[in-house]
Amino acid sequence: MACRPPPPATPPPEPAALPEALAWITGALERLREAGLERPRRVRAGRQGREVELDGRRLVNFGSNDYLGLAGDVRLTRAASRAACAEGFGAGASPLVSGHSAVHAALEGALARLLGTSDALLFPSGFAANAATIAALVGPDDLVASDERNHASIIDGCRLSRATVVVYPHRDVATLGRILAASPARRRLVVTDTLFSMDGSVAPLADLADACERHGAMLLADEAHATGIFGARGSGLVEATGTAAGVHVRVGTLSKALGAAGGFVAGHPRLVDWLRHAARGYVFSTAHPPAVAGAALEALAVVAAEPERRTGLLERAAGFRDRLRRGGLDLGAAEAQIVPVVVGGAEAALALAARLAAEGMFVPAIRPPSVAPGRCLVRASLAWHHDDADLDRLAAALLAAAGCGGRHP
Ligand SMILES: *Cc1c(COP(=O)(O)O)cnc(C)c1O
Repeated sequence: MACRPPPPATPPPEPAALPEALAWITGALERLREAGLERPRRVRAGRQGREVELDGRRLVNFGSNDYLGLAGDVRLTRAASRAACAEGFGAGASPLVSGHSAVHAALEGALARLLGTSDALLFPSGFAANAATIAALVGPDDLVASDERNHASIIDGCRLSRATVVVYPHRDVATLGRILAASPARRRLVVTDTLFSMDGSVAPLADLADACERHGAMLLADEAHATGIFGARGSGLVEATGTAAGVHVRVGTLSKALGAAGGFVAGHPRLVDWLRHAARGYVFSTAHPPAVAGAALEALAVVAAEPERRTGLLERAAGFRDRLRRGGLDLGAAEAQIVPVVVGGAEAALALAARLAAEGMFVPAIRPPSVAPGRCLVRASLAWHHDDADLDRLAAALLAAAGCGGRHP
């Protein structure tokens, strides 16, 4: 497919003087800079895949959630074009008014079949799916218990719900059980990532489901980084761990391994019916463009037809983690395609990322608020399109930077 790059942006007009009411922002930004937490954006050019061009430099891409290499796959581009031709570009309205089109309906059906849940609901993003769903399930008389490493969209959903929020230590089911046992709340909801985005660790889903069953609590699992990767059909870690009966609310995203955009919730049709009425991020937001749904449907077809993408990725990721651990690196509880190397301070993480970039590899430094202060890391996101030579080079560079003794620069 021959594609012309977009025209260069015309520079915006010179800014006017900063209004007095916004003067506080200067100091706030200054404090971010001083803490090493400023986040400049790089401009990506062209399609991403095994390589990515950032600010004019081509680097091997270890910094994308495009785990199956679908974001730049021409089959998704074509499917998006077909859907846009059939239904136009914009959805025009929220789904309950007139935005829910035939391709959205087909995608919800395909997601429900993939997850084996009978029904599913599309949201404009995974962020909206979490925030809106949590707030639709619990309110001021209720309790929500949240793993301390959960994603920002879960944290915001908890706050939005106005329920009592209790944060439990990472994957600590014993503490969670005590929290649930002690709570007199009307309803109780436990929320967890299944594959934690900054740690590469996996939630103890079977134990969480047991605890929820014992205490009559609802369980919501966010599969954002696991959708398309785990399980025989590729639906996620709930499938892989056989815990579907105990996980009541299954959230996922179309924007990571599936290479498209949008979030979804799958579950019992009664639950989905309630969310259609009560999840404000669903009710009051325009349906995502039909082209996006068309691309996501195509991605699901690729996931079904090419399981070797996910199995190959997980195999190579296991070898990569073994090699780093044998070399003395501490990867914490990482057990998937997300491989974090914790270095401590923000400056150290930036320095390691810069060193890897100098060697031709994009491995982003992750700093607060994505991780706790003092737990800054570089995060290698492995993908299907990385070959053995790519992984060898990255492993060698990480081990060299750590002095091979397991200590960090
Ligand atoms: C990325 C992410 C989301 C948000 O999904 P988007 O589709 O990008 O909005 C939700 N939960 C987790 C765990 C994530 O990593």
